Amino acid sequence: MTNELITRGEHSLIRTYESQPIVLDHGQSCYMYDTDGKKYVDYAAGIAVASLGHANPVVLKAINDQAKKVITCQASYATEPKIKCAEYMIANSCFDLVYFSNSGTESMEAALKTARKWAYEEKSKEANEFICFHNSFHGRTYGSVSITEKSLHQPFFGPYIPGVHFADFNDLESVKKRISKKTAAIIVEPVQGEGGLYPATSEFLQGLRDLCDKEQIALIFDEIQAGMGRLGTFTAYESFGVEPDIGTYAKGMGSGFPVGAMMAKRAFGKHIIPGDHGTTYGGNPLACAVALAVMQEINTPAFLNNVKETGKILVDGLNELKRESNKIEDVRGMGLMVGVDAHVEIKDLIRGAQKNGLLTTQAGKRTLRLTPPLVAGRQQAEEAVEILAKTLKEL
Ligand code: PLP
Repeated sequence: MTNELITRGEHSLIRTYESQPIVLDHGQSCYMYDTDGKKYVDYAAGIAVASLGHANPVVLKAINDQAKKVITCQASYATEPKIKCAEYMIANSCFDLVYFSNSGTESMEAALKTARKWAYEEKSKEANEFICFHNSFHGRTYGSVSITEKSLHQPFFGPYIPGVHFADFNDLESVKKRISKKTAAIIVEPVQGEGGLYPATSEFLQGLRDLCDKEQIALIFDEIQAGMGRLGTFTAYESFGVEPDIGTYAKGMGSGFPVGAMMAKRAFGKHIIPGDHGTTYGGNPLACAVALAVMQEINTPAFLNNVKETGKILVDGLNELKRESNKIEDVRGMGLMVGVDAHVEIKDLIRGAQKNGLLTTQAGKRTLRLTPPLVAGRQQAEEAVEILAKTLKEL
């Protein structure tokens, strides 16, 4: 059955991903099971998505309770789940206004449009350019991919949106060189995820904040992977002590239910008016009921402490492994967003770990990415380190 399903998938699906040798069947908390009943510790979690783990009763109850009432209605109507979810996010962040989307890339599109309209009305009609970073990842729709490093290597999708300049991450001087009167926004991931798990420094983000204030530029933090508890703080910016003007969210916000958001300070968000932007599904009552339930679970001191503590156990364990084995080059990250560079082919490490019962993903060209559910604890951290040690020995 497993091989047959994989072959049928290869025949019927557009090849956006390389196929995997196993078929996942179901999950429970931090573990997943394939169709042969084999158990895996899930350090992929849908790439930082299943924040509360699989089959979490809070998520199941929110889906069930709200689906029985109403799943969808035309987006212009207020519904209790939508308003309660927006108010919760505002009360627990530095932002004043929320736009609900269905994915990370849609949150980014909304952010780019909000920044451009703000700049058009507040700065100058020519201020429509963006500064982003090498090694960045912001999504695959045209706005998001245009500010993503990958677009530089995919000429076949061009032309991309004009007026995009790539600066060096954690290098303020390189940003300064690219600023002009036409700069509308600077877009940065507080921890570069797809690029290889590289945290920004607080000084760099504060430097960007100061530059944006001085030059009248919108500062956008892409918190799609790093936000919603993953760093051990509810929002990612809290971990650095620097507030952006606009923040984007998705992934862990619904713990697997597709939902995202763009949040903005009022001075920026107020420029979007009816007719400027929108979405059929965004803000639907079901997604908002689930997102609210998920965020209320995440945003408690005990939950966030667990993320920090488990992240530390994981990183300590990996560093010990690094000392014992000459195959690990670097361990880095924040909270439960951890990357490992190794002196072995990363694809072999991922495949070997999978065989040994650990699901992981790749980031950048050579980094093993570890993003377990945020409910993972000491046991799962130790299991992951043990499986990686065994796999490295085998390679
Ligand atoms: N931004 C960041 C930092 C991401 O990690 C991702 C997804 O991996 C995105 C944007 C795009 O999100 P989505 O795949 O939901 O469109």
